[in-house]
Amino acid sequence: MLWAPAVTIAAEPFADVHVHFNWDQREVIDAATVAHKLDAAGVEFAVVASTPSVLAQELAEAGGNRIIPLFSPYIHELGRNDWYRDPRVVELAEQGLRANRYRGIGEVHFMAGFAPRFDNPVFRGLMSLARDYRVPVLIHIDSGNESAFIDLCRTYPDLDLVFAHAGGNLLPVHLRRIVESCPRAWIEFSARDPWRYGGLAGDDGLLLPGWRELVIEHPDRFVTGTDPVWKVTRTQTWDQPDDGWDYFEQLIAWHRAWLAGLPDEVRRKIGVENARRLFGRD
Ligand SMILES: [Zn+2]
Repeated sequence: MLWAPAVTIAAEPFADVHVHFNWDQREVIDAATVAHKLDAAGVEFAVVASTPSVLAQELAEAGGNRIIPLFSPYIHELGRNDWYRDPRVVELAEQGLRANRYRGIGEVHFMAGFAPRFDNPVFRGLMSLARDYRVPVLIHIDSGNESAFIDLCRTYPDLDLVFAHAGGNLLPVHLRRIVESCPRAWIEFSARDPWRYGGLAGDDGLLLPGWRELVIEHPDRFVTGTDPVWKVTRTQTWDQPDDGWDYFEQLIAWHRAWLAGLPDEVRRKIGVENARRLFGRD
């Protein structure tokens, strides 16, 4: 049986560094309702990436200061397929960052064996902008080992790179290498819940030993978030809207549960304080 919250967990401040408000979510939930959910769950602030990117602005209008919008390079509904061939992506990113409409870049997905590669001009343009505007970049790399992450952070050593989902299927031993090789790499734990990548916590909802040791050893390098996107489950097909926000409360309760098992200082850092530092909210 999958983990379910057995006790009420005290609502400490929480920063959710990975949410989406995408066009196929907006078909089933509006921005005001999402903002209300964040408020009700005690989320101090949420970092949102939308497809298309302008929807992050819609959520920011509804959620105010609680929302940190990222510029997503997916500028139209199917932009994930062609963003790296479209120079307008860099132009729009620059306009948005200059106007302070966006406070980071991402989420950018790289799948092993598929286009694009890290050296494509659009991605390089986005990384230059991140450097110029001193904003973090949220990156999702599906890779069988940690070398792709380390190559990327060594190419851009002066950028804050946030690696989504703790690298997907990577284990603590791999993440330790990333953290120790890359002084400005941040690791986040969205979608490592038991309903998706898994592998982070046991049936009791607490961090598995390797992860616990890692975060206690490097408490300043980890953040977390819910990533309420649900089309990865088998119950839905790709032509249906994404009802991921219906699962948001379940996801956040799960994160609060594993955080609750950590020493106070580590829990506060990963739950909120590191994210404040990363996004200039401290
Ligand atoms: Zn995501």
